[in-house]
Amino acid sequence: TFKFSSNNDKANSVKKRIGLLTSGGDSSGMNAVVRSIVRVAISRGCEPYAIYEGYEGLVQGGNMIKKFEWSDVRGYLSVGGTLIRTARCQSFREHKGRLQAAHNLIKNGIDALIVCGGDGTLTGADTLRSEWPSLLKELVQTGKLTEEEVAPHTYLTIVGIVCSIDNDMALTDITIGAVTSLHRICEAVDSISSTAFSHSRAFVIEVMGRHCGWLALMAAISSGADYVFIPERPPEAEKWKKEMCDTIEKQREAGKRNTIIIVAEGAIDDNLEPIKADDIRKLLVDAKIDTRVTTLGHIQRGGRPCAYDRNLATLQGVEAVEAVLRATPDTSSPMISVRENKFVCEPLMKAVELTHQVAEAIAEKNFRRAMELRDPEFNEGYEAYLSTTFMKDKATSQGNHSLKIGIIHIGAPAGGMNAATRAAVRVAINHGHKPIAIHNGFAGLLQENVHELSWLDVDDWTSKGGSELGTTKAEADDLELIACQLQKQGINALLFIGGFEAYSSLIKLSKARNKYPAFCIPMVCIPATISNNVPGTEFSLGSDTSLNAIVDSCDVIKQSASASRRRVFVVEVHGGNCGYLAVMAGLAVGATNVYAPEYGLSLKILQEDVNHFVRRYGADKKRTSSGRLILRNESVSNTYTTDVIANIMQTEGQGLYDSRTSILGHIQQGGSPSPMDRIRAKTFAVKCVHFLEKHAHFSDPSEKTKLPEVYTKDPESAAVIGITGAQIVCTPVSKLELETEFDKRKSKKAWWLNVKPLVELLSKWGYSDNEP
Ligand code: ATP
Repeated sequence: TFKFSSNNDKANSVKKRIGLLTSGGDSSGMNAVVRSIVRVAISRGCEPYAIYEGYEGLVQGGNMIKKFEWSDVRGYLSVGGTLIRTARCQSFREHKGRLQAAHNLIKNGIDALIVCGGDGTLTGADTLRSEWPSLLKELVQTGKLTEEEVAPHTYLTIVGIVCSIDNDMALTDITIGAVTSLHRICEAVDSISSTAFSHSRAFVIEVMGRHCGWLALMAAISSGADYVFIPERPPEAEKWKKEMCDTIEKQREAGKRNTIIIVAEGAIDDNLEPIKADDIRKLLVDAKIDTRVTTLGHIQRGGRPCAYDRNLATLQGVEAVEAVLRATPDTSSPMISVRENKFVCEPLMKAVELTHQVAEAIAEKNFRRAMELRDPEFNEGYEAYLSTTFMKDKATSQGNHSLKIGIIHIGAPAGGMNAATRAAVRVAINHGHKPIAIHNGFAGLLQENVHELSWLDVDDWTSKGGSELGTTKAEADDLELIACQLQKQGINALLFIGGFEAYSSLIKLSKARNKYPAFCIPMVCIPATISNNVPGTEFSLGSDTSLNAIVDSCDVIKQSASASRRRVFVVEVHGGNCGYLAVMAGLAVGATNVYAPEYGLSLKILQEDVNHFVRRYGADKKRTSSGRLILRNESVSNTYTTDVIANIMQTEGQGLYDSRTSILGHIQQGGSPSPMDRIRAKTFAVKCVHFLEKHAHFSDPSEKTKLPEVYTKDPESAAVIGITGAQIVCTPVSKLELETEFDKRKSKKAWWLNVKPLVELLSKWGYSDNEP
């Protein structure tokens, strides 16, 4: 979750030589950072220099420091690891190594360095910066450099970008590579779950994370694991073994066949004794449960980056170049950080210090402090995990009031619908309510196709795509019959999960409250649509899954186009009148341009792109050029259809290149939901149940009113849940109506609008007239 907020206007445009390196453990998205830095730097008139193998290349110098051109980073977006390589460099930890590094930087005329890595990498860079004046003095005194050589480089600018699969850095909500790593873990756990079910086995899965349980916790949330051990929340040494075995045995007695336990590699008990996967296995075997251990290991480094990491890395690269251009001798070294879904610069060393404090707090058994030092999402996630994983012996309903919560899916299927339903069902049961499945939308309700869901009914729904309840695009229509059925079924709280149709239906029902008391119940909608067009949230469930499905397909298409050397693909993507998918997928796959309704499409735009292709393919005498993509939203123009555009491109190319189309269609719904959608689903659903409880005003039976038991007409009690900034909020539909373009079926707000110029900037050399 992030916003692009380029400060072009504020940054001064001094031509600079900017060195960049990747260091420490590799993580997916490092290449996207390098691509972004190189291309943004060039477009800002600077000269980027790639330093190979992290600090090793800086110390060795020579051909380990190489000026990068625009085309040097071609194809970088989709590749995992780091193509400019990484290393752990002992000599840079010593004065002699850093002296040599300073020498090599000056020799190359570089006095700005963007370092991508973990806390060690950032610390090393800051040390170099603080020693810079004394290192230069020493180099002059020993005759290695002249006064003239060092004079233009009196201070060293350092900017840090955190690349780490652990997501363990303080002062930033997310680090580059962590989400891709989570993708790999989820894929592995999903696969293991099916064999665990087949054989009725338990699996103990060890995931990375020495001092940080982020990967383990998020993997547990997104895979629906039955138990998790993380370093920040160690269980009681005296109790955990029995508690765990009792919990698993209880689940087995209830009929559960498979058990998944996730252990962070640094898991401990509250006496700081390590909890190892094999210890857990032995305990379960003693309890007569067939148990295996799987250590996921380096699979977790990630490989091909997911859409989220590509975009996060790309946008952070932009911010890093801008931070270099803004830097003065007086500003402390910044770290590019994501806070509240926006990019900000945080003091690099403060972030490193706070990061170390987590390990210190754990070592001092100050676990509360360790949790405080993690971002709020971590804590919220932990609570959500507990409330949807462990069945309470005694359900606790609000003031002894129990709700009958109807859950209905409306609209096209979207990743996360089932995960949200599972979480809602389980929290509802734990709170003493009855979760009622309404199958096949409102049509199902009218046919009385409803039934109560149990804890186990939804057990494996986290990883399931589509809609287990069945969903239709039909909005609420015959309100009288709907009201009648709600009353008949005794449903006194409603949870909608779906897209714009769900949102519209919620509005209809809330507006008809005066006429039908059956609608005077709390109602809340979880936006679930790949198009991300529902007001009240920056991200709907399913949009991340879809983005990944598009990126997967586009990578394949781009590979095919590149093999043919001179081919332009026009790829049509979903989204209705909302260009979110086209724009964000365009950024993630390195599309040349994106055609979306928000920006319009004209012959002039097509002509400009034809000119660009003619220029690029025309200049490519050796036929080394890669294939190029244009992403076209399905509704951008009735005239310039996907076929028409491809024909125009081909004809106007006059043989320099050819053009093909690809219409991705329903593939874009994705299969299994992405981890991000599963996590969002769980957090949304838990909060929705709380919302329904909060707005369920139970009437006092002694008052003998004729009103139903639950009755509310409060406008606040009909809302859409969503993410705004880093907050999860419920906004009443009465407010959201003002932010809605009903004719276009989308929100008036679109935080991603300013990303499109960046798509063009990063793929169209010459876009800003810099092409030689
Ligand atoms: P990861 O999170 O994957 O471990 P990291 O950046 O923390 O990434 P490190 O191996 O700790 O990985 O650091 C990378 C490199 O940074 C080291 O090999 C070393 O060259 C340099 N470095 C680390 N700490 C320091 C330090 N205190 N002083 C100078 N250089 C350092």
